[in-house]
Amino acid sequence: MLENNYLIINKKARAFSEIKIAGRTAVFLDDDGRPVDYGVLPLGDSLYAMMSCDRVRLLMMVTDRQGAHDVIGVFWKDGADYEKECPMLGSVAGMKIYRQDLRIGSYARSIAEKLDEGVRIRVADAVDGSDMTGCPECGMMNPRGTPYCLECGCELE
Ligand SMILES: [Zn+2]
Repeated sequence: MLENNYLIINKKARAFSEIKIAGRTAVFLDDDGRPVDYGVLPLGDSLYAMMSCDRVRLLMMVTDRQGAHDVIGVFWKDGADYEKECPMLGSVAGMKIYRQDLRIGSYARSIAEKLDEGVRIRVADAVDGSDMTGCPECGMMNPRGTPYCLECGCELE
């Protein structure tokens, strides 16, 4: 089990202990109050989607900067921090945070890959399931109306 809160960029995790908000920017600080590497995160127009999974206290953000798409994760060790800071980041960004299941990581990466290919993806809540359809090949839940599975590429309808 991870011991700390982490900011995860390009699959590299950096421990942080506090998030400070300055305007529409979140600054992730270490124990000494210094920003961690890549810890200054604009939450403005460069964000394409935000999604979270309560079970693993993980927030995933897909960024869209001049056609480059990245996935940034925030993992909270502590439930109280998660319940406070995750919605706070959503409200600073002015975006809805879509609720996801345990496939949140691969879902976020699939969205970034599709954006790289020029395909705009409609993000939806995965946990309630009413607006999702299961892939017959791999079981991944995809937003209804998505032509191809975001996980395996199988044709859906
Ligand atoms: Zn699939």
